[in-house]
Amino acid sequence: MDDCIFCKIVRGEIPSKKVYEDEDAYAFHDINPAAPVHLLLIPKLHIDSLASADPRHTELLGKLLLIVPKLAKQHGLDTGFKTAIHTGRDGGQVVFHLHLHILGGGKISHI
Ligand code: AMP
Ligand code: ZN
Repeated sequence: MDDCIFCKIVRGEIPSKKVYEDEDAYAFHDINPAAPVHLLLIPKLHIDSLASADPRHTELLGKLLLIVPKLAKQHGLDTGFKTAIHTGRDGGQVVFHLHLHILGGGKISHI
């Protein structure tokens, strides 16, 4: 997607504080952290939101979920972390490229 900000981050056209990359996924620090550690994990493939995912993405989505605890461990979140996916306008989604928030480093609000 030409004008998607997270696609631009994946392509290196917008700077990011990268913490992880493989052939399918990319992770970086959220620019406006809501917790001491606030990472965003995204698929390199542009998918608008979880509502746009379909069975072709099953393996990719599973892979992303399994990266989450690895990143949490690397960032010292040994006592726990929160993973959130905002979906759609009323779900609080602002950037329409599927992303997982990984939050930790302090007591994180419940829901
Ligand atoms: P949401 O779509 O509500 O799940 O959240 C989008 C998140 O992306 C917000 O937490 C923003 O702070 C974050 N964000 C937006 N632009 C950037 C950027 N250029 N680099 C890092 N994080 C960003
Ligand atoms: Zn995108």
